[in-house]
Amino acid sequence: MIRAATKSAEDTRALGAALASLVRAGDLILLSGDLGAGKTTLAQGFARALGVDEQVVSPTFVLARVYRGRLRLIHADAYRMDDLAEVGDLDLHEFLDDGGVGLVEWGDVIAPVIPADYLEVRLDLGEADDDRHLGIRIVGPSWASRRPAIEALAERWPE
Ligand code: ADP
Ligand code: MG
Repeated sequence: MIRAATKSAEDTRALGAALASLVRAGDLILLSGDLGAGKTTLAQGFARALGVDEQVVSPTFVLARVYRGRLRLIHADAYRMDDLAEVGDLDLHEFLDDGGVGLVEWGDVIAPVIPADYLEVRLDLGEADDDRHLGIRIVGPSWASRRPAIEALAERWPE
């Protein structure tokens, strides 16, 4: 587990933007953590850095939104348990195979229905209101070669 911490929403957006600079076509990133942890906030920084002009908002009630940036981005949220099956139906595989990038919130519960090759970013509330602890985990081969870059990124937001 690679650890980091942020002290504001803007910090988390900046970390998301740094992550976007490492992303490649076909990548999947799971964002896990409780409601209000900062998953959507991280997605906003990520999308902005990917060149998405539109404002990224929580996709909770629409399940998924597609944005156009340097790469096509799908931002999905499987908050409700019955969303799970629907995310399975999203055809995330096809979207990723076609060169898109996926950001999926509520990573823990949806792990069974998505490709077993992703980066997981877990966010947890810290002691102070605006503190967040992040745990980054590499699952599968596609992110493995980028471990040093991710470690270097995490060092910019030390615990
Ligand atoms: P989630 O998608 O995990 O439910 P959101 O990103 O929608 O969470 O909400 C996180 C809330 O916490 C936002 O209101 C944001 O401004 C606030 N916040 C405060 N500090 C942080 C931080 N360090 N990182 C991310 N969000 C933060
Ligand atoms: Mg959210």
